[in-house]
Amino acid sequence: MNVQTKTDAASSGSVKPVPITVAYGDGIGPEIMEASLRILEAAGAAIAPETIEIGESVYLKGNSAGIEPESWESLRQTGVFYKAPITTPQGGGYKSLNVTVRKSLGMFANVRPCAAMHPFIATKHPGMDVVIVRENEEDLYAGIEHRQTDEVYQCLKLFSRPGTERIVRYAFEYARANGRKKVTCFSKDNIMKLTDGLFHKVFDEVARDYPDLENEHWIIDIGAAKLAANPNQFDVIVMANLYGDILSDVAAEITGSVGLGSSANIGEYCSMFEAIHGSAPRRAGQNVANPTGLLLAGVQMMVHIGQPEVAEKVHNAWLKTIEDGIHTYDIFNEETSTRKVSTSAFADAVIERLGQRPSTLPAQTYEKDKKGPAVPLAVRPRPQKKDLVGIDVFVHWAGQDPDELAGKLKAVDYPDYLELKMITNRGTKVWPSGQPETFKTDHWRCRYMFAETGNRGMVAELITRLARAGIDFIKTEHLYNFDGEPGYSLGQGQ
Ligand code: NAD
Repeated sequence: MNVQTKTDAASSGSVKPVPITVAYGDGIGPEIMEASLRILEAAGAAIAPETIEIGESVYLKGNSAGIEPESWESLRQTGVFYKAPITTPQGGGYKSLNVTVRKSLGMFANVRPCAAMHPFIATKHPGMDVVIVRENEEDLYAGIEHRQTDEVYQCLKLFSRPGTERIVRYAFEYARANGRKKVTCFSKDNIMKLTDGLFHKVFDEVARDYPDLENEHWIIDIGAAKLAANPNQFDVIVMANLYGDILSDVAAEITGSVGLGSSANIGEYCSMFEAIHGSAPRRAGQNVANPTGLLLAGVQMMVHIGQPEVAEKVHNAWLKTIEDGIHTYDIFNEETSTRKVSTSAFADAVIERLGQRPSTLPAQTYEKDKKGPAVPLAVRPRPQKKDLVGIDVFVHWAGQDPDELAGKLKAVDYPDYLELKMITNRGTKVWPSGQPETFKTDHWRCRYMFAETGNRGMVAELITRLARAGIDFIKTEHLYNFDGEPGYSLGQGQ
């Protein structure tokens, strides 16, 4: 198995402080970061924070990425980023800092634990304890979008085999390192047979390397419904980027509050730890925000840098504080709260309880000397025999009758090694013999197949002839077989 483990950095006490990069962020960010660092340091965290400026002030200086060039150097050197939420200014032109940092530094895995704190924090699902492992770099979040015709816009959904294998393997490694029993995969491979199909297939392949763990696959729609209705049946769930983004918020919310959620963004070179909520600008500067999301991200960070005893101490002190009813406004309730406290008073209460364990809620253990999950390396697959068997030409055409379009295309004098086989509209076959009821836009996919295999010169020849005939093609896609297996989908109704 191709994995590397994070160095067994430290166990506090005699340990050299581990350099970490810290950003205080915007809105409530500075207050919750100050509270979280104070708790971690009081618990004996051996860390040497290095502060960088990111977010609103950097955006407003005209830097559309929200991060100064020199800050990258700090991240590269420490490899650990503890980040408070930032405010993304309204209006266009500003890129998501989170997506930029995650993708630029290869943080492929987003780990979001979602556990209920019943009866101390109201939830419909007492006992819920799910970890969502979300792929962080691929899928529709590649952000490759185009407007192609008057009517049609496209966003490319990209899945790679190395990226998929890596996230799935990380989910199994995480489950094993954390004493979890089962890994579930959610995908929509009944519809997207190549992209989601790859995710499911790789999941089944990787699962065979972990016979000690149960595994199962759910189609995402019913899986999501089950997660919302009966989350206790899940343990670790691995998902592609978009599904994971949406469902991890749902999962955090049904534990009681999205404000409690923490996340770790794990990579080979650098990892980032943050709350899942935003900068809550309306609460800024009032010393009322709940620092829990960021604090628990700090707990994940302490495990990551090899100081599990600090993680355990902080997590249990936090649980005891929650159990004692010392709550910030967002989780305050008449039944279980005893004191409504400010951000800083909440931090004081956690610090007072360092060394204590909860009595009702299950205590957390992060075993000393136990390695965290291995970070799998990206593995490139063996190249396969790739045969060009056809070409899809996408045409912008304002007409409505597919027979008329087919007639225009057939009138083009193209080489005899190519044949027009099918026209689809929004993926549904409309020629030959389509259904008259099918709604048609101005975006037509015209599929040509080679009599035998083709080459790029033949494609260029077709395109040249279509251009000469005045056909408004706006994009082409090659159709390949890989080791004889079609690497393209059929038209719906084909
Ligand atoms: P938000 O998460 O900041 O706030 C949503 C609601 O939750 C608000 O009512 C807020 O008061 C409450 N809330 C959030 N965190 C809380 C906490 N710790 N304690 C108590 N209450 C809390 O979401 P939003 O209002 O949609 O976004 C505000 C800004 O945050 C935007 O600029 C957005 O772009 C940014 N944002 C940043 C991140 C990040 O940096 N990771 C993530 C999400 C949103």
